[in-house]
Amino acid sequence: MKSIGNILLVLCSLLSSLPTVAQEKLSDETLEFVTYQAGNYHLKNLTIIDGTGSEVKENHDILISGDLITRIGQDLKTPKGATVIDMTGKSAMPGMVMLHEHMFYPKSTPEKTYGVDQMSFSFPRLYLAGGATTIRTAGSIMPQSDINLKKAINQGKIPGPNMDVTSPHLDREGVSILELPTLETTQQFVDAVNFYADMGVTSFKVYNFITREDLKAIVETAHARGMKVTGHLCSITYREAADIGIDNLEHGFFTASDFIKDKETDQCAPFELHQSLLNLPVESKEMSSLIDHLVKKEVALTSTINVFEPYTDREVLPGGGLEALYSGSKEKVYNRWARKQGNDSLDYINFNKGKIWEKAFYNAGGLLVAGTDPTYDGRIVAGYANMRLLELFVEMGFTVPEAVKICTVNGAKYLEQESEIGSIEKGKKADLIIINGDLSQDIANIRKDKIVFKNGVGYNSPKLFDSAKGYVGIR
Ligand SMILES: [Zn+2]
Repeated sequence: MKSIGNILLVLCSLLSSLPTVAQEKLSDETLEFVTYQAGNYHLKNLTIIDGTGSEVKENHDILISGDLITRIGQDLKTPKGATVIDMTGKSAMPGMVMLHEHMFYPKSTPEKTYGVDQMSFSFPRLYLAGGATTIRTAGSIMPQSDINLKKAINQGKIPGPNMDVTSPHLDREGVSILELPTLETTQQFVDAVNFYADMGVTSFKVYNFITREDLKAIVETAHARGMKVTGHLCSITYREAADIGIDNLEHGFFTASDFIKDKETDQCAPFELHQSLLNLPVESKEMSSLIDHLVKKEVALTSTINVFEPYTDREVLPGGGLEALYSGSKEKVYNRWARKQGNDSLDYINFNKGKIWEKAFYNAGGLLVAGTDPTYDGRIVAGYANMRLLELFVEMGFTVPEAVKICTVNGAKYLEQESEIGSIEKGKKADLIIINGDLSQDIANIRKDKIVFKNGVGYNSPKLFDSAKGYVGIR
């Protein structure tokens, strides 16, 4: 039905200059953040980084009709009835497609109180504010809540990105996260996949303590239902998981247990894993061989390099936005940052290696995708972290068009939505970020004021950011 609708819209725009535009019904709460309602627009004179990795286009126009991009070019004629918006001095990139975007965040209660809380109010709007128009959650503590959020966003009730909701982290006993289930038999994993798929999740995530037999059963069951499996692994090596048929691996190479000497099969040894990466030279035939194997097996790799950003001489909250935090959370984040100043030389070693290895994977032809992973110590905040991750890809040595590609079309490709989203091209969804500055000249301009178009509706990013101030940590 949807594709017939799209064809009709395209046909309409060929036949007449003013097609009928299907309006998304937006609630008053959502409308408060809307600068441009769905309609016909002629965005004039933009610098475009289109997401495909190709060269920057200067002085280009974009025509939007309803939820679609209908044309891109220079000095375009304004279709009859379209609103002209002069974009001189501004740049455009596709809406980000980010693949590790939880809806939860560490509890704001004092240090040593473990656990996470659902941020159903603040996070959806922050993701959209930061420029993410499509996200995969890559692990859930409250799948039913994530599914309801997705529905509410799709119905226009609340502002937020399009969502691929992932199952809870599927695991055996080992990681002590109170919010997560632990299973005991392979059959229970199969039952869990079917249970969560019936509930409405659309992808799966496995975790640190599963066995190869569990993974095999999970992958088979999920694939039979047309869904993909990603993993934050420890007990299983990347090579083993690739051979079993996993679709995606999280956290770059930071969780690869492939380099532990005499590793016990199906056993997670976090300390040895960390040590093995510290010991592995930047250039090694072991790493090259693993990279080649993953590329051959078409396993996507999610970079969450922002989670590993060191503290010394770096921002307290990477991407800015300390004001978004609830006071208790702010104190926790600041204290940890202060303690770490000058005490994180080992973090720097692995961070620098991780950057090189992830780029090597990309250069070898691997599908490198991106996600921000707002967990751990509270330093990663939805929306702000999305902007920071884009900057870090440039720090890693990627060009601006490549950095944009990793955060847009690569994610769309993984989600098999590439024909609809991920790049600024004719016929694709009008999901794009208009930035008040030239992104191609300085990636840090991503932090400037933005309008984020999702499905042809233009949201005011500063207003969305403002509305979440003080709430991250409590709701
Ligand atoms: Zn995560």
